[in-house]
Amino acid sequence: MTPQHPDPPRTSDVIVVGGGAAGLSLAHRITATGPMSVTVVEPPDGPARPPERTWCYWDRDTGDLDAAVTASWPRLRVHGADGRPVTVDPAPLRYRMLRSGAFERLVHQRLAASPGGQVLRATADTVHDVPGGAEVRCTDPDGRPLTLRARHVFDSRPLSALPPARTQLLQHFRGWFVHTARERFDPAVADLMDFRVPQPRHGLAFGYVLPLAPDRALVEYTEFSRAPLTTEAYEAALGQYARHVLRLGPFTVEAAEQGVIPMTDARFPRRAGASVFRIGTAGGATRPATGYTFAAVRRHSAAVAAALHDGHDDIPAPHGRRALAMDAILLRALDTGRVDGPAFFTGLFRRTPPERLLRFLDGATSLREEWGIGLRTPVGPMLRTALEVPFLPRRHRPAPSAPPAPTGVSHR
Ligand SMILES: Cc1cc2nc3c(=O)[nH]c(=O)nc-3n(C[C@H](O)[C@H](O)[C@H](O)COP(=O)(O)OP(=O)(O)OC[C@H]3O[C@@H](n4cnc5c(N)ncnc54)[C@H](O)[C@@H]3O)c2cc1C
Repeated sequence: MTPQHPDPPRTSDVIVVGGGAAGLSLAHRITATGPMSVTVVEPPDGPARPPERTWCYWDRDTGDLDAAVTASWPRLRVHGADGRPVTVDPAPLRYRMLRSGAFERLVHQRLAASPGGQVLRATADTVHDVPGGAEVRCTDPDGRPLTLRARHVFDSRPLSALPPARTQLLQHFRGWFVHTARERFDPAVADLMDFRVPQPRHGLAFGYVLPLAPDRALVEYTEFSRAPLTTEAYEAALGQYARHVLRLGPFTVEAAEQGVIPMTDARFPRRAGASVFRIGTAGGATRPATGYTFAAVRRHSAAVAAALHDGHDDIPAPHGRRALAMDAILLRALDTGRVDGPAFFTGLFRRTPPERLLRFLDGATSLREEWGIGLRTPVGPMLRTALEVPFLPRRHRPAPSAPPAPTGVSHR
């Protein structure tokens, strides 16, 4: 019998493990920046792949994402717990939404059209250093082993456990894509935080409304707290918000979306080996105090691609130290209940020029601007928390158990 020899490893300059927001952003940026071969390893359709999601971010223009952006809003609104709205125009920034499926199709097409890009359907099993680079051992859709090698590997697979943290909250939510019988939405305004919902005993809760047409919107119920709810509890909260706060009248739920985003002051190691780097949420790209990740992975991808094309792998962190320090203080202040979450966020929108506030949330403000913003927050509780945080130990926290994320259809 002829002995079975495994196929020789396939090589490329870069391997990106996981073709989600971070992996595809990076692969796209590397191939668009210059001649480098990139293989994206993404599992075939099945349980390893997350369901389709909605990603929002703010930016001056759609840039190279024009074909994937499905909606955008020039104005943002926050409703205080007292019901008073504050509507702001963050020009030149605009809030934009894309669906992960459209983003994936767009980037797959661009990679296929580029000389060095390819998406390989396989599940990565192990990633480790080898002389001269790193190796990814995978299983292809037919169950056959496959070995890939590259000078650099960027791994965006979700971590099995979050690193130790001083504070760990979860941003957890469920949303309905609703179709109303009457025109109930203003397509020019996105409701970022609507605090006219009953507040949980710990943390905070708000509604989120992204109008897609006068009679269509994504309506979400979100909490920042320690544990996700059951699907029944989200449904009840969404029903109450849609009927009694938004007063939508008769409506149909066309699809649903559910998720959990960790809000943690953990330190995410960026390097998992001499030639292996973590990116995306697994590499600390999720902004701890807001959960926003999409814009950060785009900025980070540009920095990584520039470093690789310059011939080095001195990869910067996705967020600056000052931004992370401020988020650690806010997370702790919210978790201890020292600051009133709804009043804090509503106050930020009432008192800060909107473009500056969004730049602040992107970590792109100067120290002077940050002092100005800080002085408009509850100074006493924030200062007390700032003095306490450096002395708190980082501990392992219970893993956030992700609730199912159905995209079912129901009628009411
Ligand atoms: C429902 C939801 C809505 C969100 N909305 C927003 C938003 O509006 N704005 C925002 O900024 N952030 C949002 N986030 C947070 C964040 O942007 C997303 O979680 C984003 O997907 C993170 O990008 P990522 O690349 O780190 O992870 P993912 O996009 O999840 O990518 C990880 C990839 O790894 C792949 N993978 C897993 N296992 C393997 C394996 N063994 N081998 C190979 N590949 C593997 C998966 O298939 C997946 O494609 C949202 C999160 C969720 C869950």
